[in-house]
Amino acid sequence: ESIQLWLSLFLHFTLPSPSPLPDSGAWDVLCSGHHSNRVRGCDKFGCGHFNSKRGSHVHKAVDIVCDDYTVVHAPFTGMLRGRVQPHGDSSTNDDGVELSNSVHCVKIFNIRPSRYKGFVSKGESLGYVLPMQEKYSGITSHLHLQMCDKSDPTPYI
Ligand SMILES: [Zn+2]
Repeated sequence: ESIQLWLSLFLHFTLPSPSPLPDSGAWDVLCSGHHSNRVRGCDKFGCGHFNSKRGSHVHKAVDIVCDDYTVVHAPFTGMLRGRVQPHGDSSTNDDGVELSNSVHCVKIFNIRPSRYKGFVSKGESLGYVLPMQEKYSGITSHLHLQMCDKSDPTPYI
């Protein structure tokens, strides 16, 4: 019995406590020059919040305010999973990247990634925001942040 007690004490003090999720911290600010992730309000081209209406289409993402050409930072540590082209029209703005870890998976559009594969740390540069003003003069320039399962990213930003 004393051996059992000793063993339980030994295990209690030597086994690690359940490890936290690898990315349990808050997501980082995506756009350089900003202190927080600000969701695009409404302008003449539409609104940036989750589930906003775009004609018959519903916006299953959030638009985060970013100036044209500013550097974008990884919101969390993870792996780049390849190029994403939301429009499929090979226009200048038809570029983006998928980023995931064991918990989250996001697609970030309207950016020019510096690379499409490999490990990135939270806060590391992913590339830059593609210009919007040339095509949509007066729009609130932004990047489009979409969860891979089309759920709402708002709680994380
Ligand atoms: Zn959007």
